[in-house]
Amino acid sequence: MMTLKQIYDLAIDLGIKNDLRGEAKVKKNLAKQKEKYQKLGKEKKAEFDQENLTNPYSDTRILYDNGKEVKKVLVGIDIGVQEILLAKTLGCDTAISHHPDSIALADLSSVMHLQAEVLAMYGVPINIAEAITKERVSEVARGLSPINHNRAVDAAKLLNINYICVHTPCDNLAAIYLDKEIKKAKPETVGEIIDLLKKIPEYAEAVKLKAGPKIFAGSADNSVGKIALTEITGGTSGSKDMYEKISQAGIGTIIGMHLGEESRKEAMKHYLNVVIAGHMSSDSLGVNQFIDKLEKQKIEIVPCSGLIRVSRNVKK
Ligand SMILES: [Zn+2]
Repeated sequence: MMTLKQIYDLAIDLGIKNDLRGEAKVKKNLAKQKEKYQKLGKEKKAEFDQENLTNPYSDTRILYDNGKEVKKVLVGIDIGVQEILLAKTLGCDTAISHHPDSIALADLSSVMHLQAEVLAMYGVPINIAEAITKERVSEVARGLSPINHNRAVDAAKLLNINYICVHTPCDNLAAIYLDKEIKKAKPETVGEIIDLLKKIPEYAEAVKLKAGPKIFAGSADNSVGKIALTEITGGTSGSKDMYEKISQAGIGTIIGMHLGEESRKEAMKHYLNVVIAGHMSSDSLGVNQFIDKLEKQKIEIVPCSGLIRVSRNVKK
C-alpha cells in the first residue's frame, strides 16, 4: 500500500530519471529555480508554487488528498466528473489522470520549456529553440485560461476520492522506451519504424482499435536518416515553426504522438518524414510503466478512459 504523496514522489522521481534531457540537466534547472525563488520579494514568494522547487513538471500535481492509504485506483488518460463518479461506483479510493487537470492544466505551458532543451539536444541552436518555444508557450497559456478547470477536483472532494494527475513523467517513460527500442532495432526505412512500433503491445492493441501507428509525412520506402523524438514528451504540440529548424539541424524523421494539419504541411515542406505513433497508445505506454510500480505495491488497478492496459509485471 502507498499514500497519495508516495505515489506523487515516485512519479516525480521516475520522471526525472527518465528525462530525455538527462537527470543532471533537470536537477540543474531545479537548482536555478531555487535561486530565483530565494531572490523573490515577500509577496511574490507567497504566490510561488513551492512544488516547483522539487518537481520540474508543472503538469503533474496532487489535486485532492484525503490522507488515506491508496488501495484501489481508477486510472484513465482523461479524468472528468464522469470518471470520478465511476471511481465511486466501482469502490475505488483514488483516481489517476494522465492528462493534466485543474492547477496542473492551468500551468501546463510551463513544462513546455522542456521542448527547447530537447530540440537543442537534437542540434537546433538553443537560442532558436528557445525563441520558437517561448512564443508557443504563451499561446498555449492563453488558450487554457478560459477553461472551467476545477470541475473534477470539486467532484472528487464531494465524493472524497483521492485525485492526482501524472503527465510529463509518464510521457518521459514512453519517450525513453521508444528511444531504446529504436536504438536497438536501428530501422532504415520509415516503414520499418511502423513495423517496430506494431511489435509493442500498446500499439498492437491500438491497431485493432483502428488507431495504429501511421505515416503522416513521407512514405514507407523513405530512408529515415536521423530520428528525433521531439514530439513524445513536453506538454503538448510544439510550434509549427520548429520543423524548418529541425530539418536544418540534420534530422530526417520525427516520431510523435499527434500532429496538426498546419504542422504536417510545414514538416512536408521541409522534407521531414513524420511517423505518428498514436495518442492514446503512446500515453498508455508511459502510464503503464508507472502503474506497474503501483501494482507491485499491491494496489489494485482499474483501467478506464482510453488507457490500453498492458502490465509488464508478468513476463511472458
Ligand atoms: Zn496525451
